[in-house]
Amino acid sequence: MKIPTVLIMFLFLGVAVNGQKLTSSKKAIIASVEKHQAELIAISDSIWALAETAFEEDDSSRILADYAEKNGFNVERGVAGMPTAFVATYGSGSPVISVLGEFDALPGISQKVKPTKEPLQEGDSGHGCGHNLFGAASLGSAIAVKELMEQGKIKGTIKFFGTPSEEKYFGKIWMVREGLWDGVDVNLSWHPSAVTEADVQSSLALVDFKVEFFGQAAHASSDPWNGRSASDALELYTTGINYYREHVKPTVRIHYHIQDGGQVVNVVPDYARLWVRVRDTKRKGMLPVYEHVQKMAEGAAIMANVDYKISLISGIYEVLVNRAGGEIMQNNLELLNPLTYTEDEIAFGKKIQEATGKPQVGMDSTLKPFAETKEHPGGGSTDVGDVSWNVPNINLKVTTAPMGTPWHSWAVVACGGMSIGHKGMVHATKALGMTAVDLFENPKLVEKVKTEFKQRKGNEVYKPMVPEGPPPIGTK
Ligand SMILES: [Zn+2]
Repeated sequence: MKIPTVLIMFLFLGVAVNGQKLTSSKKAIIASVEKHQAELIAISDSIWALAETAFEEDDSSRILADYAEKNGFNVERGVAGMPTAFVATYGSGSPVISVLGEFDALPGISQKVKPTKEPLQEGDSGHGCGHNLFGAASLGSAIAVKELMEQGKIKGTIKFFGTPSEEKYFGKIWMVREGLWDGVDVNLSWHPSAVTEADVQSSLALVDFKVEFFGQAAHASSDPWNGRSASDALELYTTGINYYREHVKPTVRIHYHIQDGGQVVNVVPDYARLWVRVRDTKRKGMLPVYEHVQKMAEGAAIMANVDYKISLISGIYEVLVNRAGGEIMQNNLELLNPLTYTEDEIAFGKKIQEATGKPQVGMDSTLKPFAETKEHPGGGSTDVGDVSWNVPNINLKVTTAPMGTPWHSWAVVACGGMSIGHKGMVHATKALGMTAVDLFENPKLVEKVKTEFKQRKGNEVYKPMVPEGPPPIGTK
């Protein structure tokens, strides 16, 4: 006899390790998510197939904004000078709880839903960070909360922020600069991952800037003495950076991408350009390194007898962790059963691991214990950092790919377009919605989260690190 899915859920769900119970509101959230599940998966798959990159997410943004509107949200599109940024709001009064949703893809990692590398279209973009799942899940959780409000079970305001261009330029900085989180009590976010946990680790602060060298063109053979080479300066500069690496703290990272090093071999190049990135675990550690790397550009320009120009692109903060918020998330994750996988999914996962040279262990969806917050985390950076210095932020990671999967790669694209990714997305939608319910139903929890935020922020005055003027849409 086939046991109905609902009954299985009933048998497994109920009481968390810490004695927390699945309240009627949380059951209603789960029911709402399951009601919308097929639509959320379809939205995620559409965004996956579009794979639109930074600031070009016109259709992806529209799909999410339209779905929010269809579900009764008041949608403001094109906020903070970015056509693909939007805010969807439902309800009124306090508390005001918000959820972040990203939807941009990465260039050059197009991939089919296959466990070995096979581009859909060679050279095209792909969702190698799972942002197709990110946006759909977050919006799904906001809709589930809204349905509880409609039923009169909770009161307040729920907001969904459609945040573009996370992978390049960091769109959230301009949304924060615009004051879009003013009046929000607590913000929720999540990210696709190879693990499932209430995420209480920070990220790395970073700054992106452009260095340009301007020389004098000449024939490379007949009159090179008339030339002053911008690419000589570029080479001297990157050499300096590579020597400097030995003398920075282990938490510092410096990367560069050569964007223009001259066009042909028989011309002394009069123009060269790099995109440089400096990171550290804290903005205050990153800033002196940024200062020094800027000075080195001057040194390189002097040596090559050329002019130079430095232009700030954008800089983001490390995430300000909130452990009180993380505990609420952890409690809700404990109320949800870990994801399980079919034999086909496990085989798919193991094939991905085989293809990327990892142990063939499949997916790990077990809930990790609530972790200590590391003073110096590893990993990448996110513009969620800037949000987290303006409003308390609760973060979540959910398994959407096999253990050890190289991130920002074809392998993540593959999993995000099929059931391994979909299952993680639905799980995240439930956990976010349930955590929001706790905040709506318990003002003391909101106060606790806000108190910790104030303590951790201390005297730091938030400063968005972007040039004056509009976001750099359409620039190189
Ligand atoms: Zn990401």
